[in-house]
Amino acid sequence: MYARSRAPDRPAAALHVAVHKAKIGGMKKPRQSKGKTKQPRRISEDQYYLNIAREVAARSTCLRRKFGAVIVKSKQIISTGYCGAPRGTANCSDIGACLRNQLGAKPGEHYEWCRSVHGEANAIIHASRFDMMGATLYLVGLEASTGQIVPDAEPCRMCKRMIINAGIDRVVIQLDKGRIRTVQVEEWMKNNLGEYKKVKGKLVPVKPEGY
Ligand SMILES: [Zn+2]
Ligand SMILES: [Zn+2]
Repeated sequence: MYARSRAPDRPAAALHVAVHKAKIGGMKKPRQSKGKTKQPRRISEDQYYLNIAREVAARSTCLRRKFGAVIVKSKQIISTGYCGAPRGTANCSDIGACLRNQLGAKPGEHYEWCRSVHGEANAIIHASRFDMMGATLYLVGLEASTGQIVPDAEPCRMCKRMIINAGIDRVVIQLDKGRIRTVQVEEWMKNNLGEYKKVKGKLVPVKPEGY
């Protein structure tokens, strides 16, 4: 890409920069100081990986929501994953329908009705646990119908379980309006993923909402 932008094709290179500026979230006004050219403020490391996760999400095939995950260890991307049907099988986008949509599944329920392996799950199965120990998983969700950021994105119960067992330490989630939420995976472990609560010293299951 850079080799091409150095070629005589100047207008194309300028366009590339403009598109990049429009895409990055949370950037503040450029700083100005005497005698220096305008320098846009550098985006944070978390925002950098979230922007990449957003591109990964765009490749998803589910017609309900598109999720993209990027796993980073020691400042290196070790894996990526997006929401899509198992390899060699028909995607929601090939069929033209997602059964979760058709059957009106509530948020958090009946993920097995969708054809997809979730973005977080795909990223995890493409890496080794040894590499993922202490890593960070970056997550972005897009509404399939509008392409807008899912404002309150969170891994589903099954993905949270996999994230814990993968040895991942931290999950960084893109929220709307450029906000970022960081979760320490240890917190999920401490509260039993919200699936059990302590009553009079005993652990009792928490019923899913609506039951
Ligand atoms: Zn689907
Ligand atoms: Zn999931």
